[in-house]
Amino acid sequence: MTEKAIDSKLVHEVAVECGFDLVGVAGVHPVPDFARFRNWADRGLAGEMRYLTDHRAEMRGDPESLLPGVRSIICAGLVYNGPEPLSTEFSDIERAWISRYAWGEDYHHVLRWRLESFARKLRECADFEWRVCVDTAPLLERSLARAAGLGWIGKNTCLINQNLGSWFFLGELLTTMDLEPDAPPPDRCGTCARCIEACPTDAIVPSPDGRFEIDARLCISYLTIELRSSIPEAHRSGMGSNVFGCDICQDVCPWNRRAVEAAGGEFRPGEFAPSLERLAALGEAEFRALFRDTPVSRAKYRGFLRNVAVAMGNARLERFRDALVKLAANPDALVAEHAQWGLRQLGY
Ligand code: SF4
Ligand code: SF4
Repeated sequence: MTEKAIDSKLVHEVAVECGFDLVGVAGVHPVPDFARFRNWADRGLAGEMRYLTDHRAEMRGDPESLLPGVRSIICAGLVYNGPEPLSTEFSDIERAWISRYAWGEDYHHVLRWRLESFARKLRECADFEWRVCVDTAPLLERSLARAAGLGWIGKNTCLINQNLGSWFFLGELLTTMDLEPDAPPPDRCGTCARCIEACPTDAIVPSPDGRFEIDARLCISYLTIELRSSIPEAHRSGMGSNVFGCDICQDVCPWNRRAVEAAGGEFRPGEFAPSLERLAALGEAEFRALFRDTPVSRAKYRGFLRNVAVAMGNARLERFRDALVKLAANPDALVAEHAQWGLRQLGY
């Protein structure tokens, strides 16, 4: 079979065979939104995320640096949503909120495995070079997925699909094949501003081009996962019980009201909304064991305890006093300082 035999219909058929919920094709020149991304990073809105501002930033505008000869990027989506309540429906302040995407198996492994299987199946039809990217390679994956027709980028900056909502992971298959690109769908946010109004830290801000962008330095996802140092005090109360990521701007999005649920069980939580007391008492080895092979391990033990201390302070429950006193004596100054802040919220 020749390369011509691989068309949109076949790409969709193979994607379904491999268990993907969404698929589409984007061209590579020019890379969509690259100038916008650079402008965002240059204004400091990426905070301390050096992988967005160092030499890897430029690579995002040049997929050739990831796969020489790349001609098309196949973008695939995999739903991770489950039947559990939204964070906005959940009010047990004794428990920690972990972002929905991080409850189950690490999506990097799941998507990589499926995309590799996808590539091998397509290779049965044509000879081409390929490379799988899942979040870790410097690619503007939401912009590419939009160009590939998977959805539009909402004011909350998530990719939203009209039928599936926004609870899905993205992965890419870079190929040297010349495939017909898909077209982006219209922006369906309209006059809605629910995500902007609901964001507890006002992290969704107008961008210079009249759209919206995230000021990562204010976003709870950044503060709880990417920021390695002290969380600015001004933002701690807005964090609520979020100890890893934040789902609020997706929870309130009307396009997630009828969001579908994942077909497989790999993204279901081992333990939904774990108790803050239990998390505060975890030793480092226990933390590693509990969150091994889940995205939560990215926060690292000390960052995670820091977040737990803030969530306990925000709960303002007397029963957290002993746990916070113990964390305040932690040899790691970062953990100790946040626990002392937590104690002050309890009135100590
Ligand atoms: S993830 Fe949370 S903090 Fe970040 S923009 Fe959305 S609602 Fe705001
Ligand atoms: S909440 Fe409204 S404005 Fe925000 S992403 Fe969803 S539809 Fe768009």
